[in-house]
Amino acid sequence: MLLDIKNLRKDYQRGEQTFSAVNNVSFSMAENDFICIMGKSGSGKTTLLNMIAGLLTPTQGKIIINGTNLFELNDQQVSAFRNQHIGYVPQGSSLLPNLTALENIRLPFYLTKRPNQSTLNLAKQLLEKAKVADLQNAYPANMSGGEMRRIAILRALICQPKIIIADEPTSDLDEESATEIMQLLSDIHQQGTALLIVTHDNDVASYSQKIVKMSSGRLID
Ligand code: ADP
Ligand code: MG
Repeated sequence: MLLDIKNLRKDYQRGEQTFSAVNNVSFSMAENDFICIMGKSGSGKTTLLNMIAGLLTPTQGKIIINGTNLFELNDQQVSAFRNQHIGYVPQGSSLLPNLTALENIRLPFYLTKRPNQSTLNLAKQLLEKAKVADLQNAYPANMSGGEMRRIAILRALICQPKIIIADEPTSDLDEESATEIMQLLSDIHQQGTALLIVTHDNDVASYSQKIVKMSSGRLID
């Protein structure tokens, strides 16, 4: 299994009350699966993805990615693992405003090791494949919402992960840009990368192989 999640829970405190934003979630993904988790705002989607990406520690449960149990790693090891194995496309705009498209895409390499010629070539190839080669020296302030989202997806691909997880990849986009983003993600899937997407958009879900519903922190098949 590429991803194996068992009895995952995240509790938060609200006033006097404790509630589970993610409540006893179990599921798994094989290599090259394309799964979409659908649920209303507040149902726990982002909390779930943040735990899978190792950005948030669960209250309880297990996450095994490619045979590695995330919670047997220390903070530094989790960051390195994420960088190598998971491509994360966060909710909303996540590009650094003072970096160009090319620099944003290569950012994961600046964080772990020195970027070299081969990462430059790969970044340029990715820009070309996503039909945004002309944007390579542009700053986020001069890009459309759809273009920024596309660059964020390419940044997630630069370390050639086996799995991409994307949090509402088409939110705040017009229909045409949303379709372009879903086509890019579908291409990435067809080239052999597993995709886990969360959304509240039916059109987005229609691209996936399997739809799982999330409600009040629980997954419903
Ligand atoms: P979604 O992404 O589906 O909209 P979230 O995972 O962002 O949902 O949030 C799920 C629930 O957890 C919401 O009720 C939200 O208010 C709550 N929540 C999220 N993050 C925190 C936090 N850091 N502290 C307390 N409550 C939180
Ligand atoms: Mg969310």
